[in-house]
Amino acid sequence: MAREDEATIRAGAEDVGVYVHVPFCHRICPYCDFAVVAGLPGGREDRTVSVLVREIEGRAQPFRPASLATIYLGGGTPSLLRPESLGRILGAIGKAFPGTPSEVTLEVNPSTTERERLPAFREVGVTRLSIGVQSFADATLKRLGRAHTAVECHATLEAARRAGFDNLSLDLIFGAQGQDLPAVLADVEAALAHSPEHVSAYALTVEPGTPLAFGVETGRLVLPSDDLAADMMLAVADRLEAAGLQRYEVSNYARPGNEAQHNARYWQRRAVLGVGIGAHSYRPPTAANPHGARPANERDLARWSTRIESGVMTSPEPGWLSAAEARAEAAFLALRRRQGISAAAFSAEWRATPRDIWPREIENLVAAGLLDESSAGDLALTQRGWLLADSVFEHFVSPDAD
Ligand code: SF4
Repeated sequence: MAREDEATIRAGAEDVGVYVHVPFCHRICPYCDFAVVAGLPGGREDRTVSVLVREIEGRAQPFRPASLATIYLGGGTPSLLRPESLGRILGAIGKAFPGTPSEVTLEVNPSTTERERLPAFREVGVTRLSIGVQSFADATLKRLGRAHTAVECHATLEAARRAGFDNLSLDLIFGAQGQDLPAVLADVEAALAHSPEHVSAYALTVEPGTPLAFGVETGRLVLPSDDLAADMMLAVADRLEAAGLQRYEVSNYARPGNEAQHNARYWQRRAVLGVGIGAHSYRPPTAANPHGARPANERDLARWSTRIESGVMTSPEPGWLSAAEARAEAAFLALRRRQGISAAAFSAEWRATPRDIWPREIENLVAAGLLDESSAGDLALTQRGWLLADSVFEHFVSPDAD
C-alpha cells in the first residue's frame, strides 16, 4: 500500500467532524481562556450566524468528498443562540457534506433561557447535550464565577430528560478554592443521581493571564494542594467507575457505547473542520501536505468576521505539521486514551516503534511508574500516569536533551 493511501485511511479522511465555535457567554468566568465575548447584543447573533454559515460553505471544499460524521456546537455558550439560528448552522453543514451525523452535541449552561429552548434544540437536530454543571454546590459555583445555581443545574438536567435527550454529558470541575474531598464526592453523587451517560471531570487549571491566575499569584486565592487535587481525581475516578462510567480518556468517563464520538476524532487524528473564532481544524495528510495540518482561526471576533465576509477562507495560521510534530501528536494523543499506543499501529505509520524514537524517555517514564509497557511495546498511562498526564506528554513533545 502506498504511503499516501495508508495515511489517508489512518487519518480518516473518508469522513469529517465539524466543530462550530459560538463565542458568546453571559459573562466571562475568571478561569476561562477560551475565545469568548461577553453578552450577545441584538443584531450580533444574526450577523455571527451568517458569517459561520459563509465559513462552512467556503471552507468545506478541502475536506470533500468526506461524509459527515459528527457535529459539535461549542464555545462560549452556543445555547445562547436561538434554536432557529442553530438550525441555520446545522442546515449549512448538512448542505456542505453528505451523510447523517451520528452525533450532534450542543454545549449548554444551566440557565433558564437555555432550559426553555431544549425541546426546540432537539427539534432542529441536536442529539446530545454537554451541560456545564461544574458543581452542584452554590458556594463553589460562586467561587468559580459561574452565573447559575445548583437548583438550576438540577432543573436543566431534568428538563433535558423531559425533552427526550437520552445522551447527556455533564462537566464537573474539581480543585476549586474551598473545595475538599467530601465536597467533590458530593458533586459526583449529585451528578450520578441524574444517571448521565457521560461525565467530563476536569481539574481546575490556572491559565496564565486569567483573573484566576492573578488571584493565585497575589495570594488572594488559595487552591487545594497538588496532593489534595490528586486525591480528588482518584476519588472521582473510583466513584464514577464504580457507578459504571468507565474512564476512557484523561478527563472523560462514559457508559459503554456512550464515549464522545466527536472528541474521539481529535485523539484519533481524524479530519475536523473547525469554524468560528479560535477554532482549530485538522487536515489529514495528503501528497502536498504529508504530515497533516492544524489550521487555526483568528481569536478576534471583528477580525474573523471581516476576513470571512471579504471571502478569505484560508486560516491565518495554516498549521502545517512537521514529521516530528505529527509523530509526537500520534504518541501523546493516543496516550490520552485508555488503550494507549499500539506499537504495531505506530510502527505501520512511522516505520519505527515508539521505543526507536523515544528510547530514553520511555525507559524513564516506565521506571518512574508513569507508563505501562507490554511485551509487544504497547504503552499506556498507569494510575499515577493519569495524574501527571500533561508532564508525561511533554516528554514526547520535547524529548530529553542529549
Ligand atoms: S461559560 Fe465556559 S466558555 Fe463561557 S466564560 Fe465561562 S468557562 Fe468560558
